Amino acid sequence: MKTVEHQDRAHALLSASGAHRWMHCTPSARLEAQFPDSSSEAAKEGTLAHEIAEAKTLNYFNPEEYNKEWLNKRLAELKVGELYSPEMDGFTDAYRDYCRASALEWENAPHVGVEQKLDLSTFVPGGFGTADCIMIGDQKLRVIDLKYGKGVPVEAEANPQLMLYALGAYEHYKMLYDIQEVEISIFQPRIDNTSSWKMHLSTLLDFGGVVRERAALAIKGKGDATPGNWCRFCRARAQCRARAEKNVAFAFKSHDSPELMTLDEIGGYLERGEDVARWLKDLQEYALSQCLAGHEVAGWKAVEGRGSRDWTDQEKAFRRLEEHGIDEAMLYERKPLSLAQTEKLVGKKDFADTVGDLVVKKPGKPTLVPESDKRTAITNVTTAAEAFKN
Ligand code: SF4
Repeated sequence: MKTVEHQDRAHALLSASGAHRWMHCTPSARLEAQFPDSSSEAAKEGTLAHEIAEAKTLNYFNPEEYNKEWLNKRLAELKVGELYSPEMDGFTDAYRDYCRASALEWENAPHVGVEQKLDLSTFVPGGFGTADCIMIGDQKLRVIDLKYGKGVPVEAEANPQLMLYALGAYEHYKMLYDIQEVEISIFQPRIDNTSSWKMHLSTLLDFGGVVRERAALAIKGKGDATPGNWCRFCRARAQCRARAEKNVAFAFKSHDSPELMTLDEIGGYLERGEDVARWLKDLQEYALSQCLAGHEVAGWKAVEGRGSRDWTDQEKAFRRLEEHGIDEAMLYERKPLSLAQTEKLVGKKDFADTVGDLVVKKPGKPTLVPESDKRTAITNVTTAAEAFKN
């Protein structure tokens, strides 16, 4: 096993992480290759978390080569950046523990690969990827992926990125191990999401056939541009004509009758309207960047926003105010950190151990979410059972 320079993980044109998009919309890979791949703060934070997680899992699974001393040195190197926070330690500990618990479930200790480089070119031209953790033995293959994002919960079921990693791992190990069952797992600690999906090897290989066909089109930029929820991660999303046409058609579509929409229609509008709103935002951001770059966007221009005031020297200003009779106590307020800030400062585990019993969960404001959301639906309607309970 060897450590991976995560920031140097090159991206293939048909990357495994983009498979959900280019499998649905095959021309997207070539289209988006024209736009720069800028790395966000969140992505950099995710990279750091992966590096810390890698060091901890290497130390757990291969302590002879990656001993305690090596681990401490590696962690000290990684924890210097401002992207590091103590909660990252808790989340990466939880990931290592998840991998450890998974390995202990096997009847015979599995072969474990940490940050395993995988050649995916049997299925995807020029394709390669890096699986966070794979385990093989007892006729099983398991792929575990750490997701450090905290936006949308990622599901393992039919997840093309993990299925591609599983295919790569299968190709790599099929001569050495008899693999019949495959399990793919997502571990997303920041939003308490773990998701696993098991399949027979034949399902994985069927997927391999489909992905090979889609990849053959995608590498040539062929096929129909097909907008969908995968557009949101496409770098061509602001300028893509297919997406614009779909959203314009939807946004300006009107019916003659009847005068009032049904709840079914409203549900449909809300669902499809989500992408219209996203698309409009993408267009605004893109047009602003073009105006700032000196290009003319018909009918629009960039101006300075409202701005805000700030001290040039706050200490000096406060001193002067005190000299003018303003009491120091009136100039400062002492505010406790919010619960979330405190948890971030202390780390999730220590927070739970120390003050977990002093935390109460208050119900949130009712929110409208798609039906697929895992939370239980609520209503204000009192049922007969509740009304007569007392
Ligand atoms: S924005 Fe959507 S439809 Fe357009 S190329 Fe990208 S994925 Fe395809």
